[in-house]
Amino acid sequence: MEKHLHCKEFVDTISSYVDGELSEELCAELDKHLSECDNCRIVVNTLKKTIDIYHQQAEREKVPDDVKERLFYRLNIEQFRK
Ligand SMILES: [Zn+2]
Repeated sequence: MEKHLHCKEFVDTISSYVDGELSEELCAELDKHLSECDNCRIVVNTLKKTIDIYHQQAEREKVPDDVKERLFYRLNIEQFRK
């Protein structure tokens, strides 16, 4: 089950993430793609800021999806930026 994620697919998948529909498997795919693609890191960084705002607005109890939380952690691309 090894396939390469293309940037368009990555962005499409990121959209699913925002909807809270991302599986752990896809999470790993995104993580892998991010490690290889500067452009998508920028996309994610932008998205991440949006999600930060979303998280700030939502009450903690209303964000129960821990898959979402894990992905959020994985997509913490700050570590890639120097
Ligand atoms: Zn990409």
